Amino acid sequence: MIEAQLWKPAADKNVRCELCNQFCLIEQGARGKCGVRENHDGRLMSLSADKVAAMNLDPIEKKPLYHFLPGTTSLSIGTPGCTMACQFCQNYSLSMPPKQGDEVRGERITPEVIVETALRYGAASISYTYSEPTIFFELAEPCAKLAIDKGLKNVWVSNGYMSDKCLDRLRDIIHAANIDLKAFNDDFYRNICDARLKPVLKNIVSIKKMGWWLELTTLLIPGMNDSDEELRGMAAYIRDDVGADTPWHISRFHPTYKLTTKPITPVERLERAWEIGKEAGLKYVYVGNVPGHVSDHTTCPECGCLCLDRSGFSVTSNAIKDGKCPECGLEIPGVGLSGEAGKNRAAKGRKSDAGRRPSI
Ligand code: SF4
Repeated sequence: MIEAQLWKPAADKNVRCELCNQFCLIEQGARGKCGVRENHDGRLMSLSADKVAAMNLDPIEKKPLYHFLPGTTSLSIGTPGCTMACQFCQNYSLSMPPKQGDEVRGERITPEVIVETALRYGAASISYTYSEPTIFFELAEPCAKLAIDKGLKNVWVSNGYMSDKCLDRLRDIIHAANIDLKAFNDDFYRNICDARLKPVLKNIVSIKKMGWWLELTTLLIPGMNDSDEELRGMAAYIRDDVGADTPWHISRFHPTYKLTTKPITPVERLERAWEIGKEAGLKYVYVGNVPGHVSDHTTCPECGCLCLDRSGFSVTSNAIKDGKCPECGLEIPGVGLSGEAGKNRAAKGRKSDAGRRPSI
């Protein structure tokens, strides 16, 4: 346990946390909504800054990031807790226990060990992921700085609910992000996620302006966020406020946590969302969580050439040359997309290790 950052004292030894948009006012002895920041006699302490509960060597495609160093691996870490409380959380066994007052479990670790492990396994990046990286900011920030010193990239996989102050601290140390756009109406965020839509929309635009490579993910839940009208609004926002080149992953929901009575998203609904994205002018729309689906590939929006082929989380062929379509020469947006570069990194990253739990 270490003293948290980004908080200020309040009256009667309460504290105000300024790490995320919940801006919790926390009484002595109590925790914030995330469950991992606790008021100890007027000082805010982080219960998750010195441990990880999950660490795996993942393909970067699993984040999902499809236009960032394809074919490489990313050492992925996460701790318990979360700044939201989504009823459909696909990772609730990790995110929820501390919010219910349970012990914050995990293995003790330091940034040095994380970075050394990433290098030992040939990862091209470190991903702060699984639950919500904002809540382990005190671990992620020094780790990301050290990772940069050692030539690694940093990836932020998040619900996008960090505060302006938090985002500002991350500005120069994160290279790529996948941010959830869970719905396009505030009622959904309020009632299903215990959060608000507006700060997420604002942060997505800020991240794009900050120059991180950005991809978005929407988990499509039948009858909750999948109406044509809502999807059209979402697609128009991405096109107009973020950019038509921004990859949008439309992901399949599986019943879990508090939404066990909802059905799995029918493939037709995912395909309808894909169509709506394309009709709105989005250039890179992907259907996720449906292994082998045809829209899992990257095709050139100009000439239709198959530029990058995937099977599951593996890149099976990459024809992109110097960041461009091999047929018509259109620039394909992203970072390190070229086939040769990807192959070299993949070799360095020992793809056979992908999916392993690294030993530390
Ligand atoms: S990180 Fe967010 S949820 Fe956690 S204590 Fe701070 S303001 Fe509250």
